Amino acid sequence: MNDYIVRATAADSSIRAFAITSKNMVEEAREHHHTTPVITAALGRLLSAASMMGSMMKGEKDLLTIQIQCSGPAQGLTVTADSAGHVKGFPKVSDVVLPPNALGKLDVGGALGLGVMSVIKDMGLKEPYVGQTVLQTGEIAEDLTYYFATSEQIPSAVGLGVLVEKDSSVKQAGGFIIQLMPFTPDDIIEKLEKKIGEIKSVTEMLEDGNTPEEILEIILGEFGLEITDTMPAAFRCDCSKERVSRAIATLSRKDLDDIINDGESIEVKCQFCNRAYQFSIEDLKEMRK
Ligand SMILES: [Zn+2]
Repeated sequence: MNDYIVRATAADSSIRAFAITSKNMVEEAREHHHTTPVITAALGRLLSAASMMGSMMKGEKDLLTIQIQCSGPAQGLTVTADSAGHVKGFPKVSDVVLPPNALGKLDVGGALGLGVMSVIKDMGLKEPYVGQTVLQTGEIAEDLTYYFATSEQIPSAVGLGVLVEKDSSVKQAGGFIIQLMPFTPDDIIEKLEKKIGEIKSVTEMLEDGNTPEEILEIILGEFGLEITDTMPAAFRCDCSKERVSRAIATLSRKDLDDIINDGESIEVKCQFCNRAYQFSIEDLKEMRK
């Protein structure tokens, strides 16, 4: 099954909802970055969420970046999504190994530790929108719930899950975001909160064979769920030699001269997808001009 996002409403449009199946994008990220299971889970949860959050934006060129800087061994994560379901991302440290947490699960919260999450929305305005919140648990779903509540003033429920196979490949990945509009009636909010407290985890629902539509049906079926739209989602990096060369161009003249004087071509990797680009001495001399 290819990755895709479902968008829906419920309770007379007083609830909006998103769900995603994202196994392929998370597996592709794992292959690019050679991540250990706990980092696959951390990056995968963030990619899945960013893909849904990107789809909330309207403009074709709008970009959403979520950056986590943290004190745990993972040190940080960066993901970027466009408004068409495409995401890319990378961990600062890809090879963290930790024992399972108290629940026997991959210890994403332990890998991240304390930190700050920044959500940057570039919607073509003079200044991008930046919302910054402190990590609550480092488990990412709770951190995003807190972000939506405090930074966007939108009460939300976020569920994210990545299940890793014994051979470290990705078995399941997905998630949902449920948001309340300012006019959601109190009795609906109460019933929904109760419902969300009762449902299984995202990975359990995916393991049961549920599609994103069915996950939303489980949560919102009794509230008059209406699927409004589905869109494909995927890991996609738009890097090019030209784009990577801009990173080299930020080096000081002296550093560039040192590389040129060494007389050997260099290899520079795209942070987001790890693709390697070769720069010959001729390329570097050209850039120095
Ligand atoms: Zn790339």
